[in-house]
Amino acid sequence: MPKTFYWRGVLVPFITPWSAEAAPSPPVVVRHGIGGTGLGYPDEDPRADRWNDALWARLPATRGVGVPNFAGIHALRQRQAMRRELCQVCGGPTFGTLPDERTLYLLGARDSDPIREGETTQAPPVHADCARLAIRECPHLRRGWAAALVQYAPAWGVAGIPYDPKTLTALPGPAGAPDGLVEVPYTDEARMRWVLAAREIVRLHGVQAVTDLAALSEACTTTHWRPSVH
Ligand SMILES: [Zn+2]
Repeated sequence: MPKTFYWRGVLVPFITPWSAEAAPSPPVVVRHGIGGTGLGYPDEDPRADRWNDALWARLPATRGVGVPNFAGIHALRQRQAMRRELCQVCGGPTFGTLPDERTLYLLGARDSDPIREGETTQAPPVHADCARLAIRECPHLRRGWAAALVQYAPAWGVAGIPYDPKTLTALPGPAGAPDGLVEVPYTDEARMRWVLAAREIVRLHGVQAVTDLAALSEACTTTHWRPSVH
């Protein structure tokens, strides 16, 4: 069963990176592949390093080792959570935990404006119980959050580090962008070739705002497991 991690009494979400995971991604090279030229690794493993043609950052996955970096997001656990509909707080599966097979999303850092139909997000799903726990314990959510039940959330693109095709140096992201990352849709194949992906982005469809998470928890099916605390 997935564990809810705590560090010195503070909740550490599944997608939070730890200090032992802080190694830089290895240098990239120019790769001439199917469909064009773009970034690659000299020893690239297409099954591990590429998803939907995007090249992903490589980093260790040693959850729970060292000190958590609450300001960061672990690229590979974030992607895993998006792809498998895992809870961003505890890492457990969210599919089937709500009565009508919808999925709950919780977005922070907003001034009580609701989640919009068709909005894109880098935040993976969350359990109703874990959403309540996170709102209680995570400072950035105490400052404002919005939640919604979502019918489906197809992959939209990635957020990543843009590279100069001529010099292969990392370029700054757009001003004000979270973590300095540029967002690129999967439909933009030309730009996707020169971005090192660090977040999966999905688009939210069939959105219904949720303001009463306690009532939603009560409505969860009896087969819904509750996170164990360690
Ligand atoms: Zn959870």
